[in-house]
Amino acid sequence: MKKGKKLYEGKAKILFASAEKNLVIQHFKDDATAFNNQKKANIEGKGILNNRISEHILSSLKEVGIENHLIKRLNMREQLIDMVDIIPIEFVVRNIATGSLTKRLGIEDGTVLKKPLIEFCYKNDELGDPLVSREHIYAFEWASVLEIDLISEQCLRINDFLQGMFKGVGVKLVDFKLEFGKRKSDGKIILADEISPDTCRLWDADTDKKLDKDRFRKDLGNVINAYQEIARRLGILHEQSNNIRPIKFSKPKAVKIKKNK
Ligand code: UDP
Repeated sequence: MKKGKKLYEGKAKILFASAEKNLVIQHFKDDATAFNNQKKANIEGKGILNNRISEHILSSLKEVGIENHLIKRLNMREQLIDMVDIIPIEFVVRNIATGSLTKRLGIEDGTVLKKPLIEFCYKNDELGDPLVSREHIYAFEWASVLEIDLISEQCLRINDFLQGMFKGVGVKLVDFKLEFGKRKSDGKIILADEISPDTCRLWDADTDKKLDKDRFRKDLGNVINAYQEIARRLGILHEQSNNIRPIKFSKPKAVKIKKNK
């Protein structure tokens, strides 16, 4: 797949034009940021792992009928995806209280929530992605009532599926962030962005050891080993290694690209 011009560069990913109309190439970088860009690092191999983990999760979700932007993985760092207009809201789903929820409301870290909690944050780096209510979303026309209802339902379905998937490999899905967008080709709202240890909190089921980006945020060390551990448990990484070289991945699946109508 020939890569076209750079369309957008974010903190952890770059979007390039592709040869196909309404499809773009998503490139995963090794850059990591936290605390609204105040902490930055380059974590060798992170982009490769996130590309592979996100591909695994998004294609599994597709298999159970949750539409998303993934068309196929192209190589170690890149995926072909549907072009979407991103809804400027981060949808955070929580099963266990930690992070900003505990700080904001004084809830004890590790409190298991009776049912999943969905939070809405306005995607705006300058403002630090503030928490907003449904009413803010409607007032500023970031999304409609129908769209938020539909997305919230999908968030809960995705949570159910991912909780089960991770439970099966001895991992607690503590919380995670999702983004949705309107597909350029037909205007349908679909899941977009990525689902990876950068966007989820994942704790070992027996020890509560953090296997996600909190290792970077909190300087816990062994960031890449934690991401590798997730990939290994999901059956993506075929060996346990403390050294990121060599990483052996299974070959990308041959997927036919369906032309969008
Ligand atoms: N999250 C994310 N991107 C963001 C903010 C949060 O992927 O810009 C994820 C984060 O990894 C965690 C969940 O959303 O899995 C909830 O994050 P929280 O609000 O607790 O973030 P904190 O302020 O603690 O980083």
